[in-house]
Amino acid sequence: MYEMHVGTAVNGNRPVWHVVVQHQRTTLCGQPLEADENAQTDHHCLPCMTAFQHLMRTAQPA
Ligand SMILES: [Zn+2]
Repeated sequence: MYEMHVGTAVNGNRPVWHVVVQHQRTTLCGQPLEADENAQTDHHCLPCMTAFQHLMRTAQPA
């Protein structure tokens, strides 16, 4: 499963929503997560969204 966490964008300093593998601290785009869980943003990490959509398309039903 996947969770959404706010972290710094890959190219820039603004906070964005990253997709994170549950129980790990690994974003789909490879950007390290910071411990700033209180950050708020309306933006999403594009590399994470692209990778997530690819995972959903290729996911096999259990
Ligand atoms: Zn990301």
